[in-house]
Amino acid sequence: MNSFEPGGTSRPFSAPVPRSPQQPAPVASPFALLGLDAAIVRATIDESYLEPTPVQREVIPAAITGRDVLACAQTGTGKTAAFVLPILHQLATSTRTAGLRVLILTPTRELAAQIAERITAYGRYLRFRHVVIYGGVSQFRQETALRTRPDVLVATPGRLLDLMSQGLVKLDQVAHFVLDEADRMLDMGFIHDVRRVIGALPKTRQKLFFSATVPRPIESLAASLLADPVRVSVTPKVTAAETVDQSVVFVAKEHKGQLLEQLLGAADVERAIVFTRTKHGADKLSRKLEQAGISAPAIHGNKSQNARERALAGFRSGHTRVLVATDIAARGIDVDGVSHVFNFDLPNVPESYVHRVGRTGRAGASGRAISFCDRDERPLLGDIERLLRRRLPVLDVAVPRQPEPPVQRTQEGRQDATRGEARPPAQHGEARPAQAQHGQARPAQDRVDFRTAAPRRDQPQTGDATAAPKRGGKRPWWRRPRPARRNDG
Ligand code: AMP
Repeated sequence: MNSFEPGGTSRPFSAPVPRSPQQPAPVASPFALLGLDAAIVRATIDESYLEPTPVQREVIPAAITGRDVLACAQTGTGKTAAFVLPILHQLATSTRTAGLRVLILTPTRELAAQIAERITAYGRYLRFRHVVIYGGVSQFRQETALRTRPDVLVATPGRLLDLMSQGLVKLDQVAHFVLDEADRMLDMGFIHDVRRVIGALPKTRQKLFFSATVPRPIESLAASLLADPVRVSVTPKVTAAETVDQSVVFVAKEHKGQLLEQLLGAADVERAIVFTRTKHGADKLSRKLEQAGISAPAIHGNKSQNARERALAGFRSGHTRVLVATDIAARGIDVDGVSHVFNFDLPNVPESYVHRVGRTGRAGASGRAISFCDRDERPLLGDIERLLRRRLPVLDVAVPRQPEPPVQRTQEGRQDATRGEARPPAQHGEARPAQAQHGQARPAQDRVDFRTAAPRRDQPQTGDATAAPKRGGKRPWWRRPRPARRNDG
């Protein structure tokens, strides 16, 4: 039994579930060559894993010997198996002792549930118990589960500390500790909670730290806690997955919704996650898309666990094609086949960009990430590009125009139209703007790269980020030259 089922019996780890004779011996598997126990190798075969991913190839051989690890690996690289498999191996090959032996700390409940689901899969031929605990739901079932004396606990920091303070969880027997998504713990302000949890662990235990990026506070946490760790970095420190085609569209804030609707209508958008910066923004956008006939539930920290699970289940099953999410809520989304990530708002923390983009292009699949950037977000784009060490190409797509307001006559009898539209930057085939549909070619002068192009003076617009510059005034944002960066790739 490897899931939490109150009332089940505990058996020693060393008693694997009997295998059917028809099953092929797993010795030929590359996972066996990493030194993993046969029962675990068999589970990887069931999962149709043909080869270990780079992070697994590097981490597993070191971790099964009990070494500490500091791994810089973003989500989608197979990092969960990289820590779960060697820990299960150690449990399977050692004599079972009473008490909790493995603690996996992860920032979000979705991620916790996902890790628990992976433990079930990878440990299906082993006998042990694991329990997952997270906040936002009643404590009652978790208390019951904890009474079954699990061997492995997957937890978010807040709920773990709550249960520890009530004497329901004791960490004194923990021999293997995993800190998952350490950088996200930091972003979410959990680092003090993490330190408190670590303070309650026994001194001699194996520690595995996983982080998509290794900012300085994580580096110093690792330096103070890990003993001679094996350092693994499977991707350049902060680059998003290479399989993701990334681009940016310059668009005025008020036109983002319309542009998104337009892009979501493209045939190749099979499954998309749209990121907003705030919970309120996520709700608002979700409502707007619903009004436009696009079912797009929002998930964020203020949603109930049930609502989040429902939204995720609909997204996983393909019932809903679009999910609107905030950074924190999206952290645990592990859905294969996400074809597109849209950054409706750019994140304040550039590392979040990497995490967002990592939602697509998972496990080697290709994906697209399109970021909307309005005038105020240009510094954020700069931060992201500095982190990526390259500029994001500008997506050649026309920004939709909104319907023109009625023409008003001024006292002098002149026609005076005010349009709040963005100048269309450009277009490139796939996401056609409303006015370019029906086979119309857009005029060449509408293809404007906001970074370099001069505004069109034939259509001055008022109240508009892209209006023609006032004579003698400051250059508008899209006309200012972008400073060259040393690391541009
Ligand atoms: P993770 O980075 O742990 O979130 O894993 C991303 C996805 O890769 C999950 O859907 C895993 O099931 C899958 N995965 C993990 N390891 C492998 C592997 N060796 N081969 C193929 N898929 C894998």
